[in-house]
Amino acid sequence: MNRSKSFDNSKPLIYLIATPIGNLGEMSKRALDVLQDMDIIAAEDTRNTFSLLSNFGIKKELFSLREHNEIEASEHLIKLAKSGKKVAYVSDAGYPGISDPGYLLVKKAREEDVAVSTISGSCAFINALVASGLPTNHFYFYGFLSKKGQEAKKALEELSNRNETLIFYESPHQIEETIKLLNSVLGDRECVIARELTKINEEYISGKLSELVNLDFKTIKGEMVIILEGQPKSDNEISDEKIQDKIRFYLSLGVSEKAAIQIAVEELKVPKNRVYKLVQEMK
Ligand code: SAM
Repeated sequence: MNRSKSFDNSKPLIYLIATPIGNLGEMSKRALDVLQDMDIIAAEDTRNTFSLLSNFGIKKELFSLREHNEIEASEHLIKLAKSGKKVAYVSDAGYPGISDPGYLLVKKAREEDVAVSTISGSCAFINALVASGLPTNHFYFYGFLSKKGQEAKKALEELSNRNETLIFYESPHQIEETIKLLNSVLGDRECVIARELTKINEEYISGKLSELVNLDFKTIKGEMVIILEGQPKSDNEISDEKIQDKIRFYLSLGVSEKAAIQIAVEELKVPKNRVYKLVQEMK
């Protein structure tokens, strides 16, 4: 067992700092204050971080911690923290460790009894998910599919029975192949492509995969996240009790009976007359 408190200075500490995914207005005051207070900052791409910090008038010693040197650079950062230096890690955008380097650093730090604390900020898939209109209560973040078609297909086959909303990161070069692959392996499902989040060209494109395969992909540029409906549960897999629990939950929030029925129908994908009958039984 290991316990570490982030604010009592009893252990060396490394900050993981989330940075904007496009819009500099999302750099928090807390992130700036902590960065300003650091002795040394490790960065996925030092040029990128240099330019980010310059925007805010911050000048610090930087060194590179990227995928190809993650182990050695992590050891170096941990050594610096242990020697009493104030240190932080930032990736190119969003949270370190989310489809970015950071996990190995944190694992090693925790093994060596160095505390780790996260400074909150933007994360591309959270923005995309919450505005997608697809269920947010349970989701499965996959990240990038393999660029090799057969490997991507195998991964999707393994995901095909998951009921949670599925989340993928994607690049503009690969989006057409990926949408076509999703349609062929997982069948026709609701899908949202969220692109250029927080930037001037931010756009959400939603529809069935069978519609999205016909997109003019030349117009789908920039960074993007794919949010995909999970495998719908078949009606008889959902117990009467579960439906009634859902209704009770929404009624307890003060939602009207009519609205609670509608929400249960949409979330559980069960026929309205079944939900209506169960509501009458609850009275
Ligand atoms: N660490 C980041 C995070 O917390 O979201 C993710 C970094 S990953 C290397 C880059 C991928 O994140 C992009 O290919 C894209 O799928 C997604 N992404 C990053 N910024 C985005 C944005 N502004 N709009 C849409 N997707 C974005």
